[in-house]
Amino acid sequence: MFENLSERLGGVFDRLTKQGALSEDDVRTALREVRVALLEADVSLPVARSFIKAVEGKATGQAVTKSVTPGQQVVKIVHDELVHFLAGDNETPGDLKVDNPPAPILMVGLQGSGKTTTTAKLAKRLTEKNGKRVLMASLDVNRPAAMEQLAILGTQVGVDTLPIIKGQKPVDIAKRAKQQATLGGYDVYMLDTAGRLSIDDELMAEVEAVRDVTSPRETLLVVDGLTGQDAVHTAENFDQRIGISGVVLTRMDGDGRGGAALSMRFVTGQPIKFVGLGEKMDALEEFHPERIAGRILGMGDIVSLVEKAQETLEIEQAERMMKRFQKGQFNMNDLKAQLEQMLKMGGMEGVMGMMPGMAKMKNQVAEAGFDDSILKRQIALIQSMTKKERAAPQILQASRKKRIAKGAGLEVSELNKLLKMHRQMSDMMKKMGKKGLLKQAMGSMF
Ligand code: GDP
Repeated sequence: MFENLSERLGGVFDRLTKQGALSEDDVRTALREVRVALLEADVSLPVARSFIKAVEGKATGQAVTKSVTPGQQVVKIVHDELVHFLAGDNETPGDLKVDNPPAPILMVGLQGSGKTTTTAKLAKRLTEKNGKRVLMASLDVNRPAAMEQLAILGTQVGVDTLPIIKGQKPVDIAKRAKQQATLGGYDVYMLDTAGRLSIDDELMAEVEAVRDVTSPRETLLVVDGLTGQDAVHTAENFDQRIGISGVVLTRMDGDGRGGAALSMRFVTGQPIKFVGLGEKMDALEEFHPERIAGRILGMGDIVSLVEKAQETLEIEQAERMMKRFQKGQFNMNDLKAQLEQMLKMGGMEGVMGMMPGMAKMKNQVAEAGFDDSILKRQIALIQSMTKKERAAPQILQASRKKRIAKGAGLEVSELNKLLKMHRQMSDMMKKMGKKGLLKQAMGSMF
């Protein structure tokens, strides 16, 4: 799923020629694909349109960096804009205004969005991380089970909840919470309002009344990150009627693409403060704009891979190498260059984490105990070879192997592993070279 945009752009990249600056056509062609990717990531249509329009003006005429294609350059610009837009100016994700005790936090959102769970998660975080004394109260008078749920979660996370008094109206519960928070010396009191399955007037009026008697320091809208398009309507309504100060996106542990984040930000202009990443009470993180941007674009972190490749590798050298690899010429010097390049780019984990679709392989590599110290040992082994041996490793017999291993201070078995890896890599490159896949694979990296 995450390869979508890169695959699709792969075709576009090929059609675009390398030029000094991005032409209007280049930009338009690439942005058309980006727009589809945004829609697939559940960004709402008007939001995708306005965002693309804003980027279009910025991208046209920008110089194309020597070692990337215009298409890649456009993606980088889109990515940077997305991060900038999601991050806002002078905002610290996860920051809540909770000075002047007792500070009221109003939690709003539709039923099932994860409001109650998030209330408890946030209360836990404020208690443990910020050292605040928190009181929680449920205002969901229509669903006694919801009130009990909050009480149970409160016990679980060690946060006090306001005792339930049957028959009380939401506004009266809110007043009682305020009073108890003041008398009890609490720093924060959180109000978990009632949800409905969809927006309705009665609900809005109820939340308005609660807002008016408590003047919340924060009004957080909890939105299911998987709902995408519908979420926009919800956000618009809550923001217009109640006025929100931030958004919490839940269920971001699912395989949604996170487009709701962009839509929310666009529609409300308010920051995404937290994301929910599971049902457990500590599955709440502050919002990371870069992660969501990468996820929305479905690019893994290819953008930073491009950046790092630019910094660390001479493109001409890479192209020369690729031509030789295609012909099946892949010697120990090449392997050494690759290993060194990997180290520069943040080691095995760094490189794999940046390539879309490689996350799974990264785990396998970690499980096999492959880490950066292995890269360094392999480089040492190659350094211990003569020029002739590096160019033609097949001449290595027992005595040479012993000498090389000794020179690197390592065992022959480790050298054998390196030789095996080299053989496998050169076989694979030959195969990929024949199918034209090598060029594609390297093209996306450099
Ligand atoms: P409310 O009706 O808005 O108060 O929703 P709840 O807090 O009762 O949550 C509804 C369901 O969603 C519960 O089963 C929660 O455990 C689950 N849930 C809430 N947040 C998350 C999240 O971030 N990830 C996942 N996977 N589940 C969540």
